[in-house]
Amino acid sequence: MGSSMKRKQLAAKASPARPEPSHQPRSVTLLGATGSIGSSTVDLLRRNFALYRVEAVTAHREAKALARLARELNARFAVVADPAVYGELKTELSGSGIEAAAGAAAVVEAAQRPADWVMAAITGAASLAPTLAAAERGATVALANKECLVCAGALFMRRAAENGATVLPVDSEHNAIFQALSAGRREDLRRIVLTASGGPFRTWPLDAIRKVSVEQALKHPTWSMGPKITIDSATLMNKGLELIEALHLFALRPDQLDVVVHPQSIVHGLVEFRDGSVIAQLGSPDMRIPISHCLAWPVRMATPAPRLDLARVATLSFEEPDVERFPALAIARRALAAGGAAPTILNAANEVAVREFVDRRLGFCEIAALVEATLELSERRGDMAEPQSVEEALAIDHNARRLAADLLPEIAAMAS
Ligand code: NAD
Ligand code: MG
Repeated sequence: MGSSMKRKQLAAKASPARPEPSHQPRSVTLLGATGSIGSSTVDLLRRNFALYRVEAVTAHREAKALARLARELNARFAVVADPAVYGELKTELSGSGIEAAAGAAAVVEAAQRPADWVMAAITGAASLAPTLAAAERGATVALANKECLVCAGALFMRRAAENGATVLPVDSEHNAIFQALSAGRREDLRRIVLTASGGPFRTWPLDAIRKVSVEQALKHPTWSMGPKITIDSATLMNKGLELIEALHLFALRPDQLDVVVHPQSIVHGLVEFRDGSVIAQLGSPDMRIPISHCLAWPVRMATPAPRLDLARVATLSFEEPDVERFPALAIARRALAAGGAAPTILNAANEVAVREFVDRRLGFCEIAALVEATLELSERRGDMAEPQSVEEALAIDHNARRLAADLLPEIAAMAS
């Protein structure tokens, strides 16, 4: 393939052309079917049963819930990542004709099975191998998981383009940008703006933020989501991860990426063109809207999401993010600018820090501190090259998790 042809293909994949709508049922696979995004996707499938056929569903260790879903959706293949619950899954599926499997390799197999459309909604870097497997067979990938783009974004997008995969952004801000980008030519784009709710502690003084409990951090003011992303939203690390996600998804430069805090979560993202026009996407904060946009792509489907009534919302407000009280955003921006292995390390350390916070071994403010310390120590040790393969990405991820675990006692002690 000539280089100009290759460039054309990459450009096409960065903003996929609308294919003709098909009247065949679309075959779909749900990776992370039992989670928050998974459940919202299932809700839409239930309402549009005739339009879809479910190939595979996967979960971590929720065997009973997964079996129930697999039966209801008439799936062909159900997989739990944790082999310890394989027996339970098998028993729950007995007599159904649905094939059961367990383990990380079986999750990858689920992604490789021939479904037209794959929802990537596993939490964390554990999503990388299966999501990549779906992209490598040229599937349409509805990408909810952002950690895999933070962990190995350049690699993921390159493999997706090389294999003719279409990547559709599920994350509400990125879905908004994706929709708004269709208003103009890429050459005319000046910058994009992601909105952030600001999380539950947006107006809290630093002294109070230091004493935040797990329960308080798990109560998001506008969105209902899984625990990892809810904590990330409270620290604003979520917005940092989303900047890195946007850089890769839309092939942007760091200086084209902005964040504005918007507590009502009605405007999800904005695109500014060179003439000064700013195109925004608005909607109720209900993930079924962006999920449906990807599920029905290239057409649209009705959803049960509350209709947006701007007169009732009354006020839309915007403010600068405060990186003094929420340093995670600044740390993520630095990792984005540094590139190389820094985003991979950022993501791994953050996964460790969030788990330690939820398990009450780390204070809320020490989440960002642990991530920063892990990045600094990695930089001092030198090898910060960008991962060129999944194995390299997972090795960097693994080493960063170990470093974070080593640094944990020292960082945890900072709180007292
Ligand atoms: P969740 O915790 O509710 O669900 C995660 C799903 O992944 C579950 O089905 C779980 O069984 C499975 N899973 C977890 N760990 C696994 C592992 N190691 N191996 C295999 N499967 C595993 O999470 P969620 O809120 O649905 O988020 C899923 C992804 O979507 C995350 O990457 C998140 O950042 C992203 N996302 C979520 C939302 C939201 O509104 N929930 C919005 C934007 C982006
Ligand atoms: Mg988001």
